[in-house]
Amino acid sequence: MSEQRDEGYDEWIDAIDRGEGYVLECSNGHGSLPPRRLCPECGAGDLERRPLPEGGTVDTYTRTHVPTPEFAEDAPYVVAIADFGVARLTGQLRGVDEPEVGMRVAVGVEERETTGDPLLVFRSA
Ligand SMILES: [Zn+2]
Repeated sequence: MSEQRDEGYDEWIDAIDRGEGYVLECSNGHGSLPPRRLCPECGAGDLERRPLPEGGTVDTYTRTHVPTPEFAEDAPYVVAIADFGVARLTGQLRGVDEPEVGMRVAVGVEERETTGDPLLVFRSA
């Protein structure tokens, strides 16, 4: 466990791990991810939890061969940004040899190879 992880983020990762993932939505319909107190787009403070849709689509991805030390044993790996409608999530894309923009993915929580810390992971849906 790293000491630098944010409490609100940990709680959110745990919720996704239980299949109870959520996003924060302000009264103007802007989605954002925890931890947040204010909407990053309009500054509204009345953020409500909305269930995270079950599937998203890959917007963009990057394959990393030379990782930072904390991901040393994970490399090579693919980091993807996936659009879940209400919000975009960033995670590691696993189990896919040829990633494609637009592919459908589901989100879950798995462990980093290197540190065992929980990690947001996309898999083909
Ligand atoms: Zn807003």
